[in-house]
Amino acid sequence: MKPLPKLVLVDDSLYAAQAKIYPREIEGRFARLRTIAVFALLGVFYLFPWLRWDGRQAVLFDLPARKFYIFGLTFWPQDFFWLAWLLIIAGVSLFFVTALAGRLWCGYACPQTVWTEVFLWIERACEGRRNQRIKLDAAPWNTEKLLRKGAKQLLWIGFAAWTGFTFVGFFTPITDLARETVHFTLSGWETFWIVFYGFATYGNAGFLREQVCKYMCPYARFQSAMFDKDTLIVSYDVARGELRGARKRNADPKALGLGDCVDCDACVQVCPTGIDIRDGLQIECIACASCIDACDAVMDKMGYARGLVGYTTENLRAGKPLRLLRLRTLLYGGLLAFLLGTFVWGVAHRAPLIVEVLRDRNALYRRSADGAIENSYTVKLVNKTQAAQRVRLTVVDDPRVTIADRSDVALPPGEVTSVPLTLRAVSPDFSGMVRIKLAARDDASGVAATQTAQFFVPEKP
Ligand code: SF4
Ligand code: SF4
Repeated sequence: MKPLPKLVLVDDSLYAAQAKIYPREIEGRFARLRTIAVFALLGVFYLFPWLRWDGRQAVLFDLPARKFYIFGLTFWPQDFFWLAWLLIIAGVSLFFVTALAGRLWCGYACPQTVWTEVFLWIERACEGRRNQRIKLDAAPWNTEKLLRKGAKQLLWIGFAAWTGFTFVGFFTPITDLARETVHFTLSGWETFWIVFYGFATYGNAGFLREQVCKYMCPYARFQSAMFDKDTLIVSYDVARGELRGARKRNADPKALGLGDCVDCDACVQVCPTGIDIRDGLQIECIACASCIDACDAVMDKMGYARGLVGYTTENLRAGKPLRLLRLRTLLYGGLLAFLLGTFVWGVAHRAPLIVEVLRDRNALYRRSADGAIENSYTVKLVNKTQAAQRVRLTVVDDPRVTIADRSDVALPPGEVTSVPLTLRAVSPDFSGMVRIKLAARDDASGVAATQTAQFFVPEKP
């Protein structure tokens, strides 16, 4: 009988600790573009809540009042359809830009990229350039390391807290929030959201960084569905670069049997996600173009043409022409134009006045002393304009029913007003439920709205 094979236990863990990435600082066309994008986007984020418009905060999402203010526009709960429409527009814009230019959003506009860039600037200011940071991390703790790391943490925490404060300032008037912060009178919820959002910023941009893009971002997973051979991507020109290899600056690569890649690793060292673009298009690539800047600098030094790593399409690399107009870009573009057009038209034509009529549930009708039949209602009037209005209530096209008690209602700007209303019919020649139409109209501005209601008359005894 054959002996049984020996059981060998192998300590082969599937877990591998994430190696820390130290992206090298880079200068170049795309780095400048990213800096501009960071300043513009963060400028919008940190500045907008402080702007004023018509005596109020210009951009305020007032959840308790269920009103969103965006400069001259006010969105009421009735307009939330348009906010949902806006989200659809944002989604289709992302599809359109991705089909056209790849992960432009990831590289320049995604909050994860933008805040990570700032956290990296702080890290560089405190701990130095790439090599210095690697050395500092490897060195034993001493006063200098403590001071540098401590300063970085303090600045990170301060910046994250400011971010959390600004975020909450979009939902609570930011001047009130600032006053409450100074006087330590913030409410529990305000404190929670400032700390929560600050902590999320600190964690995502300070520690998780590229891991958010690699493992957490859903967009990275489905973006390949929007790519085709004509989508702009960051790629390495294999035909031109290979065989890669080191050489002297004045050496003739052809004579050495080499391509243009000098295998300097600069493109890998600057990559914030730690990948090698020469391995082809990878899900981790956020198209930040740092590797293009790095490689262009190397090509300049070597006296070679730029573009060994560049923005291009698969078809361009294969010598085919660039095709921007193709079925998927036309479809996304057409859909986007339609959604944008509908949004602009719909928002511009929103009703400036809303009238809602609610019947009194306690009594179906009432007979007055003079024998008239009366029905009671509550009329809710929403003045969506920023001007005060005085509306006149009338029953339209039915002389049998009249307003018993009031006709004029003063509406403050941007407010909801509820008023009781009694309608009456004197000696009615009908019975049962009758549909009537109630109109509210401000004669000065011409703003008007109508609403139907039911008027009840009992059978004659
Ligand atoms: S491969 Fe290049 S473009 Fe992609 S993430 Fe790295 S540096 Fe940015
Ligand atoms: S930077 Fe350019 S030359 Fe250097 S390794 Fe990368 S692709 Fe090759």
